[in-house]
Amino acid sequence: VTPVPSDIEISRAQTPKAVTMLAEEIGLLPEELEAYGRSKAKVRLSLLDRLQSQPDGNYVLVAGITPTPLGEGKSTVTIGLVQALSAHLKLNSFACLRQPSQGPTFGVKGGAAGGGYAQVIPMEEFNLHLTGDIHAITAANNLVAAAIDARMLHEATQSDKALYKRLVPSVNGVRKFSPIQISRLQRLGVHKTDPESLTPEEVSSFVRLDLDPNKITWHRVVDTNDRFLRKITVGQASTEKGQIRETGFDIAVASEIMAILALSNSLQDMRSRLARMVVGTSRSGCPVTSEDLGVSGALTVLMKDAIKPTLMQTLEGSPVFVHAGPFANIAHGNSSVLADKLALKLVGQDGFVVTEAGFGADIGMEKFFNIKCRTSGLKPNVVVLVATVRALKMHGGGPSVSAGAPLPKEYIDENLDLVAGGCYSNLRKQIQIIHQFGVPVVVAVNVFRTDTEAEVELVCQIARESGAADAVPCDHWAQGGRGSVELAKAVKEAASKPNHFKFLYDIEMPIVEKIRTIAQKVYGADDIELSAEAEAKINYYNQQGFGSLPICMAKTHLSLSHMPEKKGAPTGFVLPIRDVRASIGAGFIYPLVGTMSTMPGLPTRPCFYDIDIDPVTEEITGLF
Ligand code: ADP
Repeated sequence: VTPVPSDIEISRAQTPKAVTMLAEEIGLLPEELEAYGRSKAKVRLSLLDRLQSQPDGNYVLVAGITPTPLGEGKSTVTIGLVQALSAHLKLNSFACLRQPSQGPTFGVKGGAAGGGYAQVIPMEEFNLHLTGDIHAITAANNLVAAAIDARMLHEATQSDKALYKRLVPSVNGVRKFSPIQISRLQRLGVHKTDPESLTPEEVSSFVRLDLDPNKITWHRVVDTNDRFLRKITVGQASTEKGQIRETGFDIAVASEIMAILALSNSLQDMRSRLARMVVGTSRSGCPVTSEDLGVSGALTVLMKDAIKPTLMQTLEGSPVFVHAGPFANIAHGNSSVLADKLALKLVGQDGFVVTEAGFGADIGMEKFFNIKCRTSGLKPNVVVLVATVRALKMHGGGPSVSAGAPLPKEYIDENLDLVAGGCYSNLRKQIQIIHQFGVPVVVAVNVFRTDTEAEVELVCQIARESGAADAVPCDHWAQGGRGSVELAKAVKEAASKPNHFKFLYDIEMPIVEKIRTIAQKVYGADDIELSAEAEAKINYYNQQGFGSLPICMAKTHLSLSHMPEKKGAPTGFVLPIRDVRASIGAGFIYPLVGTMSTMPGLPTRPCFYDIDIDPVTEEITGLF
């Protein structure tokens, strides 16, 4: 339809097939499905065992050039490509996407179900509660926070003996350690199972985590852009006996538990990761974990349904897994390992699984390869690099672009010089970055109504000159899968080419060398500069045996450098590493480059102004 209607109008005009029918079409057994209403269902992980001997399909990653603040259409391309592969080329295909946070949905960016005729439907279910995974993460995260503060209160107000009596109660005259307590004793080097045999010193070190209130890194979370929770004081009621401390909230999708959901390979693996999470440091300088708090079993119970991917469909009826949505700045910005694994088995050898990495290729894709693929053991066959004429014009020297403001005229009229400038800088550099990982790249030019044929052709030509296996325009936003058939053919062709996938760095390299490698080889920096704090933290992590983890850079997505205003492919800069933190359970070290917000705020006129519901028909309006 021209003009293309709003996303929610398009979504509502299509009735999704029943999820039970979709499940049957893709080869799921009824007992492998847990339906949540008519159009979504969770899929049980037992499917992985059933299809163990089935060869995996082709694995395609959608990444992007450095975007404008408006987003360049990676989700839209992911869905358009899957619609083209399945409905038009008749190949088994699956899209694997992140679940959006309600922060952006009600804040600035709006929903994340794709757009136009390339969407996941029903888009309101996709964008809102879905199957409750983010709520489960919030519950688990805040249980840890409550456990920390309660434990500090009890330790501050009770003797060793009283604590021991309560932690290891006598039942019918017999005291027994729980399995979690035995594991804590073993970590303390006490190999005893009889609670009566501990010396007073052993009792003391067992009952006291002795958390340093100034060194607690664990925050509470909520899935709302609520800036007033960035810094709070807890424990002000008299019942907390003066245990007052400053802490804060992060948005739920920036939590370590979200990253764990995305990186776990099984429920057992998730249990181990939840146990390893470091929540703070003791007064003697030892890391304190959620296993020390005795809470990791309960956390796994809270997450037992969240670990199952949610099955939905595109507008054209192709299957989609929606699973996990870690922030792409302080976490790794990719959907779950488990969804990709299940989908790769379901599509079979000749099929295609298309997944998306957040932000530009320098961020989401680098983390996809070095963190997600390292964890999963999966090897991607092709990268689709999404480019738009508007972002290339910005990199070529066009005026700045911001959300909510009209586009300057350079972006509406044909301007081949600006396009060429962007292609020779940012596009070329991003292609070179992908080549370092040894995977073929197909450039997808996501066409907007204002682009001219000459502009689009120029992008394709320079992309091919720069080493892309192919470069094609795609118009799924206006035409659905039909508009991405050429892209689908190019991806199929590229997937048949030899693939020499390799990681960018050896995991055993020192932390500083790993950071330097990413800064120089991916961002184009001359070198890195560590603050004294960053250096001290790195030494501490090395001492604690955390040196062999991959690196998850927390850097702006608006530039290849750390300076958001530097467009194109900046050179001649030194990357400043302000601080280095660690998510031991998720399994990465994250250096902070500049300031990173882990709790966004609301603008003056948030998206929620436009969102409403018709009380009679229950039709939602304003979710775009
Ligand atoms: P990303 O995943 O890169 O952040 P999205 O796919 O979410 O980007 O797209 C960002 C926004 O741009 C969405 O609102 C989408 O509907 C819109 N959009 C994407 N492609 C087009 C296009 N070709 N024409 C018009 N709008 C588009």
